[in-house]
Amino acid sequence: MNAPHSRAHHTDPSQLAPDYVRRIARYIPGKPVDELAREFGLAARDIVKLASNENPRGPSPAVRAAITAATDELSRYPDGNGVKLKATLATRYAVTPDEVVLGNGSNDILELVTQAFLRPGDHAVYSRHAFAVYPLATQARGATGIEVAAKNFGHDLPAMRASITPSTRLVFVANPNNPTGTWIAPDALEAFIASLPDDVLAVLDEAYNEYLEPAQCAPSAAWVAKYPNLIVSHTFSKAHGLAALRVGYGIMNAKVAEMLNRVRQPFNVNALAQAAAVAALADAGYVDQSRQINRDGRAVLEEGFRALGLTWIPSHANFLLVQVGDGGRVYQRLLEQGVIVRPVANYGLPEWLRVTVGLPAENRRFLTALTVALQS
Ligand SMILES: *Cc1c(COP(=O)(O)O)cnc(C)c1O
Repeated sequence: MNAPHSRAHHTDPSQLAPDYVRRIARYIPGKPVDELAREFGLAARDIVKLASNENPRGPSPAVRAAITAATDELSRYPDGNGVKLKATLATRYAVTPDEVVLGNGSNDILELVTQAFLRPGDHAVYSRHAFAVYPLATQARGATGIEVAAKNFGHDLPAMRASITPSTRLVFVANPNNPTGTWIAPDALEAFIASLPDDVLAVLDEAYNEYLEPAQCAPSAAWVAKYPNLIVSHTFSKAHGLAALRVGYGIMNAKVAEMLNRVRQPFNVNALAQAAAVAALADAGYVDQSRQINRDGRAVLEEGFRALGLTWIPSHANFLLVQVGDGGRVYQRLLEQGVIVRPVANYGLPEWLRVTVGLPAENRRFLTALTVALQS
């Protein structure tokens, strides 16, 4: 029964990967509801998940109908050029379709930028306590991440500008930022983009843009005409309630877009996602309602934190970062009560938890559970 070739002396195949791949720390997602249900013997319907900044309302009825209709064509490949969705986005943002790149989530856009523009040894600059994917996507290319100290938990743009050297190819800015919820006003942001050398690309990640009050939104898509090195990234995963379908997009100079299109998969955005995204863009009223519900829910959470004597970071998004002492311990105490939030020790914030704003009943459940968690 012995195999003709002994396997005993084979090296660990993971050693075949480049050092810079082996050094990548895994992305830690929010705990799935089913997993908690299994671990604690809870019913899935009794679990409240406020861990991944999803829209608790899900997509609008019109979007659900568009997804169902799109299932008629499941045997067909999707439109690899996403013509309809790009045209809809181009009209909406007053750009041309060749200035739009679609992604399998906006995470794909972040990856594609690093894939197209970073070589081993290049530098990418981002802030401490900023979105975890920036270092991951940077390291996957063998490039060097330059993490700049935060200021009041947000981006310190002058310090980020000062950290740019001839090796820098890319700078990431999240606005609002995840996990801190901090926000940079449009004037300061544009001044930063304008200050960048021509050979540094700026990725402006606006995943939570729809949760800003309209007056706070930067005219970032219009900036692309002025700044050929600017890439604006948006997603349907958050306010549009479509995280499961994975669809996002970037708006950028057509020459930059062309580079991203060369490295992307030919069919990187699935057909259900494309149909859903087109329908979501036609349903602006639903997003306005979601923003309102979020604003009210955020105020309820803040009031609860105030009553508990807790400190939180004022947020411009659909989540709040709250200081609870031992974040890991309070996270566990909440899990035991069927409430999933996000520990952020991996973001250098071990005393804090990030909680997504839920529906009114979910917010109440969370605050009650938090009260218990802090006492025990
Ligand atoms: C959630 C998130 C994204 C990416 O989400 P996708 O689902 O991949 O579109 C990007 N940036 C930030 C800051 C986020 O929080």
